[in-house]
Amino acid sequence: MSAVPVVGRRILVTGGAGFLGSHLCETLLSQGHEVLCVDNFFSSTRRNVEHLLDHPRFELMRHDVTFPLFVEVDEIYNLACPASPVHYQHDPVQTTKTSVHGAINMLGLAKRLRARILQASTSEVYGDPEVHPQVESYWGNVNPIGIRSCYDEGKRCAETLFFDYHRQHKLRTKVIRIFNTYGPRMHPNDGRVVSNFVMQALRGEDITLFGDGSQTRSFCYVDDLIRGMVSMMGTADDFTGPVNLGNPGEFTIRELAEQVIALTGAKSKLVFRPLPSDDPRQRRPDISLAREALDWEPHVALTEGLRHTIAYFESILSTGAAPLPARS
Ligand code: NAD
Ligand code: UDP
Repeated sequence: MSAVPVVGRRILVTGGAGFLGSHLCETLLSQGHEVLCVDNFFSSTRRNVEHLLDHPRFELMRHDVTFPLFVEVDEIYNLACPASPVHYQHDPVQTTKTSVHGAINMLGLAKRLRARILQASTSEVYGDPEVHPQVESYWGNVNPIGIRSCYDEGKRCAETLFFDYHRQHKLRTKVIRIFNTYGPRMHPNDGRVVSNFVMQALRGEDITLFGDGSQTRSFCYVDDLIRGMVSMMGTADDFTGPVNLGNPGEFTIRELAEQVIALTGAKSKLVFRPLPSDDPRQRRPDISLAREALDWEPHVALTEGLRHTIAYFESILSTGAAPLPARS
């Protein structure tokens, strides 16, 4: 049998079976690239990439990025890391190891291969921000010893490593700071606010607002985010970021709950639960840099994105696809 000709690049996506990773793999395949998806399935299952398994340019490898990896690729997207508080607080030591050892291993791989490498960092590097909206030059307000620190400080250390590899080894590194992103293939039990509210509404359960629901977040639809991520990888070698990627539309958590109820037609009541510690009061990206450097801005409004997301969770419930185990 003759080998399938590859017109694109060989691209490694760590965390490729996760919510964002699976969409990224699809996009890269559609652009003609060869994709090596590496994941240890800590917060995902093969189901997210099942539809890609027969694709001639797709390969799935079970591997934990806290251990070295020896493969040959041209580009690396480093997404491996649980992203929801329920998941990353389940095994906080492993979360820090994934961010820090994972970054060291993937940067080491990029150094050997002289490959471009992009880090999926987060708005959590700003902690509970005192500057609003958040600009990339803001250093953040992060508790180093709280229950979110394994994620926040792990991601901050990974950013440090990316910038030191760039300065010290002239590596072509890129850092994006992702703000709350939602859409199909979110883990139904991950405890994140969009998946929680949609699942609760579809099941006719009460909607759980933590605190009084006046804290804000800015929600970006997955398709917009992936477009920005791929565009960042394509920028000139000397452009490292960090670049904020997110939707500047800002909503209180209560407003989000009301939108979900309106769109699902659910009879759910709003109920109030204690606010988890260190929960940021407000979050909204300043995306001036992304607009200027990437010619990027999000197009999908919250209502439209929620409709797609609700349809996805409805299909999970109606087909009886077993929800993944909760980690709390
Ligand atoms: P996700 O949990 O769905 O995906 C993360 C993937 O990484 C999962 O498939 C998981 O199994 C895998 N993984 C975890 N530890 C690993 C390890 N040690 N080795 C190999 N694979 C491992 O989360 P997501 O929302 O798709 O997030 C992807 C990336 O984007 C993460 O790095 C996250 O920090 C970042 N991010 C996401 C958001 C968001 O709103 N979705 C916001 C900010 C940053
Ligand atoms: N939240 C909530 N009810 C839920 C889940 C989350 O009110 O059932 C709140 C949470 O306290 C936070 C916001 O929604 O203020 C976003 O939470 P998420 O875990 O999605 O993301 P993050 O806090 O990491 O931005």
